[in-house]
Amino acid sequence: MAKSRFEYVRNFELPDPLIPNTYIVVRIDGRGFHKFSDAHGFTKPNDVPALDLMNRAARAVMDDLSDVVLAFGESDEFSFLIRRSSNLYNRRRSKINSTVCSLFTSAYVFYWSQYLPDRPLKYPPTFDSRVVLYPSEREVRDYFSWRQADTHINNLYNTCFWALVQSGMSTTDTNKALQGTDSKAKNEMLFSQFGINYNNLSPMFRKGSTLVRSAPAEPSSSGAGSATDMPEASTFAVPVRPFEGLTGEVVILHEDIIGDPFWLDRTWLLA
Ligand code: ATP
Ligand code: ATP
Ligand code: MG
Ligand code: MG
Ligand code: MG
Ligand code: MG
Repeated sequence: MAKSRFEYVRNFELPDPLIPNTYIVVRIDGRGFHKFSDAHGFTKPNDVPALDLMNRAARAVMDDLSDVVLAFGESDEFSFLIRRSSNLYNRRRSKINSTVCSLFTSAYVFYWSQYLPDRPLKYPPTFDSRVVLYPSEREVRDYFSWRQADTHINNLYNTCFWALVQSGMSTTDTNKALQGTDSKAKNEMLFSQFGINYNNLSPMFRKGSTLVRSAPAEPSSSGAGSATDMPEASTFAVPVRPFEGLTGEVVILHEDIIGDPFWLDRTWLLA
């Protein structure tokens, strides 16, 4: 097709590749969800259907993009880990960032009525997103530890906050009462004043939600085109199966991902 004289403006679109062989994390976060959660009557501190909807939207991202091997969510945010050797969209930053954010947002709206059937959407929810690269396993582990530690800190604070507010204290006094308290003091307050044993709260509230792709299926040994179909003593090189991404099923967990066991059981995540 002939080019128009306007076509030169395309040259202003600069390449934005992510450096190769690094772990890619995309984190989305609800925009103005303090207000959004109020407007839609979210139960405080944790509205379960709203969290389930976040998890459903994250799952939609993983169903669409098989290079996303792990996702961790709490409150109005979700972090997605894309495997290190991924060549998704030729590692173009904007394309990856915008696609993950758009997939998540549209799934959140698409599944809304299924999870919150009695609460019609009052206005379109929006999410922002960013891409961060990590060079080694250590930083990826620390990244997810950071988010899960944040989940714990926020949830303990919010559980105390809303227990006090629901007992009749003003929000100003509640903030004052909680200022400077350590986690031991918060645990004790919950137990002595409200009979709440923090450790008995739902693991989804305390540990967040982790969606993880299971191990890739072993290449079939009998399927057509497999290495064993080659004639014996073949002079042909054994065909190398192109890496097809981890197409294993996605499971949802609410457990510790700071310690070693989670990662030692799933070495493929950081391969
Ligand atoms: P920003 O646009 O800067 O992200 P924000 O209002 O979204 O601002 P966040 O720090 O992201 O602020 O906090 C999200 C807020 O949304 C939480 O503090 C909480 O009030 C509310 N929220 C999100 N999910 C839930 C939920 N499942 N149940 C109850 N409240 C929730
Ligand atoms: P990519 O994901 O790479 O953008 P694509 O399938 O979206 O792939 P585009 O080059 O963006 O490809 O083209 C969008 C296509 O969507 C058009 O070629 C056309 O077939 C279809 N399309 C979009 N809007 C309309 C519309 N209003 N009416 C009919 N067809 C449409
Ligand atoms: Mg934000
Ligand atoms: Mg937010
Ligand atoms: Mg947030
Ligand atoms: Mg298109």
